[in-house]
Amino acid sequence: MNDQALLDIIGGIVSNLKSAISIPIGISNKHIHLSQADFQKLFPNKQMTVLKELNQPGEFASEQTVTAIGPKGELRNIRILGPFRKESQVEFSMTDARQLGLKLPIRLSGEIEHTPGITLKSEFGECTLEKGVIVAKRHIHMSPADAKLLQVTQGECVNVRVNSEGRSIIFEDCAIRIGEKFKLEMHIDTDEANAGNITPQSVARFVE
Ligand SMILES: [Zn+2]
Repeated sequence: MNDQALLDIIGGIVSNLKSAISIPIGISNKHIHLSQADFQKLFPNKQMTVLKELNQPGEFASEQTVTAIGPKGELRNIRILGPFRKESQVEFSMTDARQLGLKLPIRLSGEIEHTPGITLKSEFGECTLEKGVIVAKRHIHMSPADAKLLQVTQGECVNVRVNSEGRSIIFEDCAIRIGEKFKLEMHIDTDEANAGNITPQSVARFVE
């Protein structure tokens, strides 16, 4: 067998392997990551307390929520996720953005230059963010070992298929996010989940 034939066989095995792996799906409702300084403005002399651990190690939903005030409306009960981040970031669905009267860019978490700001309030305080309000770009978390197995690289965009009751869907533009502590999981928002009738039991699979 020549080298090319062998490479073609290996390529075929890898692509079969990729499409055989089930990727769990996490559906994110609107939420906020806060810097410690911004948290203190909203909750003076109070602590962030854990409501529930999330799937990604170290991440948790806190018991605290805030209200966002947009030009056209308010959204209440926005969950704060911990731990604290260097910079505050608010993640809304496009439906949330419309309700608030905001036009938001689709960004990867952490890429918040030139994004809109917003005013947040709690029953104890208020805080105006100058930037950091985004619609999160859908993405797949994985460890370096998973990335090696799946032959994908940091920041690469892939396509996945999700089978569902009556609304099976293919998502393009899914960014790969590799981290030592990451567990294999795709993150989408509530609009994307609704578009594909996706539930927490649904799984995604790579497609070409
Ligand atoms: Zn994520």
